Amino acid sequence: MVQKNIRKFAAESLDEWANVLDRESKPLPAEIVREMGRLNIWGIQAPVRFGGADLDTISYAIIIEEISRVSAAVGLGVTVHNSVCLAPLLKFGTKEQIERFAPDLASGKKIGGFTVTEPHAGSDMASIQTTAVPDGDHYILNGQKTFVTNGGIGDIFLTAASVDTGKKAGGIAIFIVEKSMKGFSVGKIEDMMGMRGNMVSELFFNSVRVPRENVLGPVDDGFRISMQTLDIGRIGIAAQALGIGIAAFGAAAAYAMERKQFDRPIGTFQAISFKLADMKTLLDASRLLIYRAADHKDRNLPFSTESAMCKLFASEAAMRVCMEALQIFGGYGYVKDLPVERFFRDAKITEIYEGTSEIMKIIIGNAILKEFSRL
Ligand SMILES: Cc1cc2nc3c(=O)[nH]c(=O)nc-3n(C[C@H](O)[C@H](O)[C@H](O)COP(=O)(O)OP(=O)(O)OC[C@H]3O[C@@H](n4cnc5c(N)ncnc54)[C@H](O)[C@@H]3O)c2cc1C
Repeated sequence: MVQKNIRKFAAESLDEWANVLDRESKPLPAEIVREMGRLNIWGIQAPVRFGGADLDTISYAIIIEEISRVSAAVGLGVTVHNSVCLAPLLKFGTKEQIERFAPDLASGKKIGGFTVTEPHAGSDMASIQTTAVPDGDHYILNGQKTFVTNGGIGDIFLTAASVDTGKKAGGIAIFIVEKSMKGFSVGKIEDMMGMRGNMVSELFFNSVRVPRENVLGPVDDGFRISMQTLDIGRIGIAAQALGIGIAAFGAAAAYAMERKQFDRPIGTFQAISFKLADMKTLLDASRLLIYRAADHKDRNLPFSTESAMCKLFASEAAMRVCMEALQIFGGYGYVKDLPVERFFRDAKITEIYEGTSEIMKIIIGNAILKEFSRL
């Protein structure tokens, strides 16, 4: 039912926008953002009393896949808002924080983000330089963030800052920062290769006074909170990659049976049908890895390694599927009249954000070493 409803919404309301957002690098119209609120898309796993849909993580993955099939840029905004802003707020927030921020986020009245990355701190989050200095009932935040998904349109940002840079990971705290706070500003919107419908931006913190009650979780527990948050987020990024791959595969399979060369559909050449066979297998394997990670999360089993595995596999699978889809389209895959080149551009970043493929292998590798060192 969830899949059917979201597929219908995506076909009727998003499809006409997907190319426009990409070409013109602009955000979704406010009316569609509101429509998504009515469909509970901004509060997929939030409790019903806050205006959410209270769905399980498999349903969440299905929603992200369906939206990303049509517009990966919109899928990005939705997954980040839900999984790395609203989810950690609900998981680590105090009762007061949840009552205060969850209703507006779950209804889509306010859009959320999660901001860790800085010019000199990407994969190595522990080296962030944004500082948070205590001042009475407040912390004073100073610093700069880069590549913030939803940055240009967001209202609430979970922001990593260091209360003691000498302590590296042990000094990081997460602050709930609101756009309206004095000293907060949005920098340039990135001119990107893909995901152009998301207003990914810089953010600046110039002596922003953040009340102590806006610290999420214990003050020096921000690194652990961030790692657990990214475990959740990666299931969404994997589902996004799957959605892009499914779109590219569907287009390529249809084209393979329609396009004739040497008096026969190109799909009847074994070279092409073998590509389709590989693509389908990669996508089905991605889906199963995603559902396994989601199922572990829903059953309160450890899912950090499973989440890294599904993100690693699904993002690399999407990239390969998009590359083969473009090849099947020949020259027509290379021009902007058809969406295949957009799928290709959108797919690439799934191997990079919320932890690169190399970092996923470190996480998976460390888990293996830990398991076998116990034997
Ligand atoms: C469109 C977009 C949206 C984003 N959204 C957000 C967001 O909302 N919030 C946010 O905080 N960040 C966001 N990011 C940032 C993203 O998470 C980072 O780009 C990513 O984590 C990689 O960091 P980096 O770009 O600094 O690369 P680096 O960390 O400098 O890495 C460069 C290369 O070195 C490799 N490398 C680094 N360390 C190691 C190692 N130990 N072993 C092996 N290889 C290594 C990497 O895998 C990579 O190939 C976004 C980025 C983009 C482009």
